[in-house]
Amino acid sequence: MSKEISCEETWELLKTQKNIIIVSHIGPDGDTTGSTLALAEALKQVGKNVTVMVDDKVGSHLQFVPGVDSYVRPKAGTNYPADLLIVVDASSLDRIGIVQECVKAPILNIDHHISNTHYADYLWLNDKASAVGQMIYELVQIMPVKMTLTMATCIYVAIVTDCGYFKYSNTTPNCMRVAADLVEFGVEPNVISDNVEMKSKAVMELLPKVLATMQFWAENKVATIELSNELYDEDVSTESFISYPRYIEGVEVAIMFKEVEKAVTRISMRSRSLDVSKVALLFQGGGHQKAAGCTINKPLAEAKNLLLSEIIKEVRAMAC
Ligand code: AMP
Ligand code: MN
Ligand code: MN
Repeated sequence: MSKEISCEETWELLKTQKNIIIVSHIGPDGDTTGSTLALAEALKQVGKNVTVMVDDKVGSHLQFVPGVDSYVRPKAGTNYPADLLIVVDASSLDRIGIVQECVKAPILNIDHHISNTHYADYLWLNDKASAVGQMIYELVQIMPVKMTLTMATCIYVAIVTDCGYFKYSNTTPNCMRVAADLVEFGVEPNVISDNVEMKSKAVMELLPKVLATMQFWAENKVATIELSNELYDEDVSTESFISYPRYIEGVEVAIMFKEVEKAVTRISMRSRSLDVSKVALLFQGGGHQKAAGCTINKPLAEAKNLLLSEIIKEVRAMAC
C-alpha cells in the first residue's frame, strides 16, 4: 500500500533526492510524455540529476515535444541506478514495462487514474485532475523554478491530449485556466494541435484497412475495430483510430483491439456513460470511466471474445 502524499509533500520528498529517473508509461501518450519532460526540466533547474525513460517508442505525432530526444530506452538486463523512480500517469506497475526490473529504487507515482493500484511507495493521486500535466503545473508553481516556454509547451500538450482539446468529460474550469495561463506564457494552441494531429502517409494508408474490420455488437451499441499483428507496425501511430467507432450515433462503447505481438493484444475502450475502467480492471488494466484500456496476453481473436463477452453483458444490463 502506498503512502498517499499531497503536492507540497511531493516537493518535500523531491528536495531530498539527487539522482532521479522519471518514467513514462508504455504506449506513451501526450500526457505521460509532456508531464515527464516538463517535470524533468523543473527538476534539472533545481540541480537534480535526471534521466527520462520509456520502454517503448514515442510516436511520430509527439516527436515535436521539446526534450523528447532525451528519452532513454532501457535495455533488458541493465541496471540503472537511482535514488528515486518517478512513475508518471501509470495506474499499475506493468505499465512501465521492463523499467520495473531495470530500476531498483523507491517509487513515487504521480497519477490521476481512478483505477490506481497503489503499487508505489509514495503516491500523489488526484483523480479529479484532467491530466497529470495539470498536477505538474501545480507542482512547478510551488517549486523555485522558472516556467520556460518548453516547460509550458510540454504541460499544454499533456493537458490537451488527455482532455481532447477540452472536448471530453474530464474538462474542468481548472484545466482550462491552466491552459489559458500557458497560452499567456507563449504556447500557440494551433501550432500544438497541428503537430499532434498531423498524420503520416503510413497512418492514412493503414486507416482504411482498420476501418474495414469494423463490427457492431449488442444491438449496435458496441463498435469494434482491430489491428492484427500482420498490420501492426510500432512506427505507425494508431491513437487516433478509436475516434471513428467512438463518434457513431447510438454507439455506447467503442473498442480497438491491437495485436502488438502474436499473443499480446492491447485494448482501448471509450464510452458515453458505461464505466469501462471497471471492465479494464477485470483484465488487470485500468483508466478512467470513459477511457480505459488493458492488455490481454492472448491472440487477438481470443482476447476479443473475452473482452466482448464482458462488455456486451454490461451494455445489455444498462439497457434494462
Ligand atoms: P488508451 O486507450 O491507450 O488511450 O488508454 C485510455 C486510458 O486507459 C488511459 O488513461 C490509459 O492510461 C489507460 N490504460 C490503457 N491501457 C491500460 C493498461 N494496460 N493498464 C492500465 N491502464 C491502461
Ligand atoms: Mn496516459
Ligand atoms: Mn493521463
